Amino acid sequence: MTPIPTRQLRSGLATDVGRVRDHNEDHAVVRGTVFVVADGMGGHAAGEVASEIAATTLAELGEREQLTREDVIRQVGMANERILDAGDTPERWGMGTTVTGLAVVHAAGTEHWLVFNVGDSRVYRFADDRLAQVTVDHSEVRALVDEGLITEAEAKYHPARNIVTRSLGHDDAVVPDVWVFPPQPGERFLLCSDGLSNELSADEIEHLLRANDDVQAAAEALVRAAVEAGGRDNVTAIVVALDRAGGR
Ligand code: MN
Repeated sequence: MTPIPTRQLRSGLATDVGRVRDHNEDHAVVRGTVFVVADGMGGHAAGEVASEIAATTLAELGEREQLTREDVIRQVGMANERILDAGDTPERWGMGTTVTGLAVVHAAGTEHWLVFNVGDSRVYRFADDRLAQVTVDHSEVRALVDEGLITEAEAKYHPARNIVTRSLGHDDAVVPDVWVFPPQPGERFLLCSDGLSNELSADEIEHLLRANDDVQAAAEALVRAAVEAGGRDNVTAIVVALDRAGGR
């Protein structure tokens, strides 16, 4: 199995406040081979604090070598503790955040991708000419769909669609979902906040990834499209490409 050559990795990042909110509570960081998106909640000057703590705490992993799955899980726990500590004031009461990301880790003696998630921000993978959602939303509507109580189509407009069932900043212990899988040159990833996935269909996302080989252009095109489609929330995207050796 091949390691992930960093010279074949490209990434682009874009974020926008949207058309309705007056400030941006999303936070995204790229550091080394660690990519993180966090979407804060909890009102003015609180949500943005929580998402920044989450993103920067996870990004610290980008400065280490030979990351393991356990390192990532531990760092999510550390981000949760820092948010709980920072939220111990009346004006920041109840602040929290989602966090999702992609990192290169060592597993089974070689480099693998690791995707982690808490909440309803998402990681998509575009490979073999098709787009798939890697993460599973921790949301009320996801649970209703899984129980067969509503359809995927109904979930999109359901009043509970913004209710997150797992987040950082609310409980003493938080366990992220993690997925570990081998790299496949030619693949691309999209990390995004729900302000993007609530505005754009999977087909629209796929179309924009196909139309923009440049990763920065892709991230900007995705964010622009979500804002133009309504921009009812903050919108954030990181696009990561693992190129084939000797070209794209
Ligand atoms: Mn959001």
